[in-house]
Amino acid sequence: MFLTISTTGTPERPATDLGFLLHKHPDRAQTFSTSHGTAHVFYPEASAERCTAALLLEVDPVALVRRGKGKGKGRGGAPDAALAQYVNDRPYAASSLLSVALATVFKSALGGVCRALPERVEAPLPLRIEVPALPARGGAELVRKLFGPLGWERVEVTEVALDEQFPEWGASRYVRLVLEGELRLADALRQLYILLPVLDDAKHYWVAPDEVDKLLRAGEGWLADHPERLLITRRYLSHRWGLTRQADQALELVRLAESDDLDVDSVDNAVDESTDTEEKPVPLAEHRRTAILEALRGAGAHRVLDLGCGQGQLVQALLKDVRFTEIVGVDVSMRALTIASRRLKLDRMGERQAGRVTLQQGSLTYTDKRLKGYDAAVLSEVIEHLDLDRLPALEYAVFGSARPGTVLVTTPNVEYNVRWESLPAGHVRHGDHRFEWTRAEFREWAAKVAERHGYTVAHLPVGPDDPEVGPPTQLAVFTLTDTGIDQKTDKSTDKKKEAEAA
Ligand code: SAH
Repeated sequence: MFLTISTTGTPERPATDLGFLLHKHPDRAQTFSTSHGTAHVFYPEASAERCTAALLLEVDPVALVRRGKGKGKGRGGAPDAALAQYVNDRPYAASSLLSVALATVFKSALGGVCRALPERVEAPLPLRIEVPALPARGGAELVRKLFGPLGWERVEVTEVALDEQFPEWGASRYVRLVLEGELRLADALRQLYILLPVLDDAKHYWVAPDEVDKLLRAGEGWLADHPERLLITRRYLSHRWGLTRQADQALELVRLAESDDLDVDSVDNAVDESTDTEEKPVPLAEHRRTAILEALRGAGAHRVLDLGCGQGQLVQALLKDVRFTEIVGVDVSMRALTIASRRLKLDRMGERQAGRVTLQQGSLTYTDKRLKGYDAAVLSEVIEHLDLDRLPALEYAVFGSARPGTVLVTTPNVEYNVRWESLPAGHVRHGDHRFEWTRAEFREWAAKVAERHGYTVAHLPVGPDDPEVGPPTQLAVFTLTDTGIDQKTDKSTDKKKEAEAA
């Protein structure tokens, strides 16, 4: 297994500084023993203009098989054929073992520590990384998808032929990977540390819960926002659903904290100047709360979930009406919940009031048994904050698992955007919106959800209903009709469906 890291330099900033950054001297070849074999670090070239460090891992295949649990097993857990345990490609292909070696040999560089040249650690440098034989389950396309969004100028993936003399045999499961671009060395190493085993998809050591921490640490700054986040998380954690879920929720929090804007739609919150009235114009968010309260009263709901409650404005409004006897605000963001708790003055509330309200942290893309058995659930301006491919998971968690009698969903009507004067053409209303739907798109989604889960659905406009483009906000009211199906979902079905939806 082999990997090279190259950089270029100038007389003022010689390329050989790479030696300092990697904590390995360019003049010496060094050997380290790792848990799976011997790692060698050496420099095939080292001048001021160009410097290349090579990491070569000699794996001991026998030790690998003998090391016990989890090794030498196929993905289904069945032992591989006896011979295959000893004669396999492990020693030659870069994989999870190379990633372990990387972390052992370049520990300080991975952690972004360099005492000799602290100022260089933070600076991106021109890098070229080559992995000549990278096992890639998912092929060249997946390799491009994984490295593509990570800031490299060039991601070159070449399929390696099974046998160069017999091209008709086709490609092997290996690719040659070359990455070029200006990145911080620590960032590049962290990407490799995670993505090499992800591509290999066959980890050779037991996945312990602290792998979640390792993933979060090495994923800092690039994983939370990665379009393939869930695949990366799932494969890195060897398809262990509980750990994947834990890591993915933590990453979702990071993403939300980074997007750093939990305010409800900034455009929506501005007063609607287009309504030409003498009275004080009403902000759209208030129109929305009024419509939601009316729909909840109409449905005769007493025990209500506010899913994605944000900073608690709706919870506050619900508390003012005594018919709502139990109000639960759920959000994935601790920061939003802290603000909500302050807004509601939860700590100074009388016992009776306080007994009516709960704020709890949770992610709506996972089933949660605490959410079962309520009269109604509200998803106010929440769905558009989820990536479209996560929407089925939310759909199952709410309509399939929590299954309240009524579900209210509001979302922007994108057709109305032309009426917002402050909104440049083609822009969504809020930086974190993953999509905004037309009326037809929302109706199509709602009809499918209703049908799948035994609800009927009605649509209501919120805000001034423009004859041409419709209202600014669309509201769907789902009513549970089929109380038979899905009701018997026990924990195991939940887990299975949840995994499918994700
Ligand atoms: N319902 C509020 C806030 C809408 S903003 C209102 O109408 O004013 C969207 C909210 O959804 C944010 O607070 C965000 O933290 C939350 N959210 C986004 N993704 C979520 C998820 N997967 N699980 C739970 N909450 C989520």
